[in-house]
Amino acid sequence: MMSIIDLLGIVSGLKEDEKELFNRFFLVHESTGKLVLPEEMKPWAEKSFGDIASVENQKIIKVFNKLTFEAALFNELRAKRPIEAKSDEDVVKVINESINDPFCKPLTGTPKDIFGRIKGKHCISASNVAKYDALHGLIVFKKHNPLDFSEKELQDYFKTALKWFDKAYKSNRNAAYPFLLWNCLWKSGASIIHGHMQLVLGEGLHYAEAEYYNKIRREYADKYKSDYFCDLHKIHSLIGLGFESKKIKIFTNIVPRKDKEVTLISDKLDKKFVSAIYKVANCLVKDLGVNSFNLGVIFPPIIKSDEWKGFPVIARIVNRGSLSNKTSDIGGVELYARSNVIETDPYKVFENIKIYF
Ligand SMILES: [Zn+2]
Repeated sequence: MMSIIDLLGIVSGLKEDEKELFNRFFLVHESTGKLVLPEEMKPWAEKSFGDIASVENQKIIKVFNKLTFEAALFNELRAKRPIEAKSDEDVVKVINESINDPFCKPLTGTPKDIFGRIKGKHCISASNVAKYDALHGLIVFKKHNPLDFSEKELQDYFKTALKWFDKAYKSNRNAAYPFLLWNCLWKSGASIIHGHMQLVLGEGLHYAEAEYYNKIRREYADKYKSDYFCDLHKIHSLIGLGFESKKIKIFTNIVPRKDKEVTLISDKLDKKFVSAIYKVANCLVKDLGVNSFNLGVIFPPIIKSDEWKGFPVIARIVNRGSLSNKTSDIGGVELYARSNVIETDPYKVFENIKIYF
């Protein structure tokens, strides 16, 4: 099986023009971290990592996107570890203990927006109590347990979310910049256990990530007469980390924001796109042991303009680590070196995702 640890070798096997495209986007650097173990630590190292040599010589792969300055660090020791898909019984217990929270009775437990509530079959909208932005709503799932979701339910959440964006926009036509997020369980930043998505509609300018990608995309189009996202996806397909299904581009980024990240790109958010998001989320939860995740969806602005013409809908979903682990998955290197230390090999994630399509 291919591995991110062999990325340089994989790239060297590409055709010249493919290599050129890869090098336009990425820099890959390989190095070895060495250490000397005292005798007393050797039994522990052997038990934890299989052999002593791989602990004393650790291959590090640094990947850098030259266009966006996104960067990731992979360590062979971590990447080689098998994925443990264990369900945590304590988590189920904690989720069940919080039943009868305000979201279980949203009509009396949550405020509504000034334009009212939108009712779906499996969810209802609410206004967020402490807002990030002036228009900030919630999609409150009927089901309490956020890890228990079907495709039918996810379709309904998104359908209701799109209606919310529409109503919110009609309530204030200066607010035209939509972003949807789903923080699932506490490691992801969710303060309430009960399943819910959040919807924000910005005024004046888009959220920074969208503005940033749009700038990169426009500069790229000027310089190379090609589309940034199409080429980014193409590169990942060439190195065995991307594919297309029903016009939806799916890939595991070699500069992921964090562990087990999957990116989905489409022209529009329709049933097919939601279906693909469901497949990915379901795979992460069912096969890859993910219990806490962030899903973020960037939409193009509601108002059409030349500047944003062709900007796609981008969904990214990422693991936030074990719910029973008190350590945060984000530290100083992520915050202040803008480099992400990645646990799982994107090739392993990709292999599992692919089976669902
Ligand atoms: Zn609840």
